Amino acid sequence: MLVRMGSLNALEQEGGNRFWSRWVGSKVPSADTMGRVFSQMDLEVIRWCIHYVYSRLKRNKALKKTHGVDVLIVDGHESSSSYLRCCAGCLSRRVHTKDGDRIQYYHRNVIAMLSGKDFPLLVDVEEQQPGEDEVACAIRLITRVLTQYPRAFDVVVVDGLYLRAPFFHLLVAHGKHVIAVLKDERRDLLEDARALFSLEEPRIEISGTTQRKMWDIEGFRSWEALDRQVRVVRSVETRTVRRQLSGQSQHETAEWLWATTLSQKEAGTHAIVGLGHDRWLIENKAINEMVTYWYADHVYKHHPRAICAFWLTLMLVLNLFRALMYLNIKPQLRHRHSSLYIARLISSGLYDGTLQHIPP
Ligand SMILES: [Zn+2]
Repeated sequence: MLVRMGSLNALEQEGGNRFWSRWVGSKVPSADTMGRVFSQMDLEVIRWCIHYVYSRLKRNKALKKTHGVDVLIVDGHESSSSYLRCCAGCLSRRVHTKDGDRIQYYHRNVIAMLSGKDFPLLVDVEEQQPGEDEVACAIRLITRVLTQYPRAFDVVVVDGLYLRAPFFHLLVAHGKHVIAVLKDERRDLLEDARALFSLEEPRIEISGTTQRKMWDIEGFRSWEALDRQVRVVRSVETRTVRRQLSGQSQHETAEWLWATTLSQKEAGTHAIVGLGHDRWLIENKAINEMVTYWYADHVYKHHPRAICAFWLTLMLVLNLFRALMYLNIKPQLRHRHSSLYIARLISSGLYDGTLQHIPP
């Protein structure tokens, strides 16, 4: 995973290389054996390893709060799809194609990540089961994370899909807060909030080329199933961008709305807007990078447990890699090179023998 080979066959082809005997004490097992072992692996053992790295970082005060709180970001991701292959864990859907309707098989998971000020820490992943939706899968994930990481986070930041009472209730019962994008799913709340915002003067903030008009009202009770009051924050953001072709400046405007259980006393408007935007971290810093550079979506072995085991292993590897990047490499060097450059250095060090094995 760390040298980004991308497939078990690539690993098998490199299996005769001398460096393996130095690093693992023997030849590498075949691709078939690796796939079979990952299909039978105890996932809790890999989760234990991830938690061990977390607790070491926590003890060394390497995990910093963002906007004064510890944040967990939760989001769903479709990891693979196929018309041909399926397993017991595959979800399925009917897809309209030019040759008629076809059944497509796919895998989805829900990922939990501590956002961290310097670097994100991937905490856990849960595969969505056939017949359940993303929120049900996320509730299973969060229940485990609440047990294993009870003090790691204060606030969970999520997409509008998670504006469901059971999801909010679970977190509130454990003393946690939620910030969720407010969308049409909660129409009553959305309409009430819009009506009140139209009567209030926004607070205006300018940072760089972005102007933010922000509204912030608490005490909404229009989401009846939640059975508690909720606060809504709106930010209308206008960014000035210079078009490269014409050289002219243009304004781009975007509107953001969040519903949250945090009171104004617990987190100010600016903090809610910042935390709400942090949700994109899981897309940019974690999932996109995992998929683009670290082959996260590659189906190493099409088996429900193996798919989850490979994801968890990659999470562990990326946490260690980022800890190295942000805690061991001097900022001057880190700013000069991309993380991919550092990953390639590690890879070439393995091949040319300059990467030193440190005995445990
Ligand atoms: Zn499958």
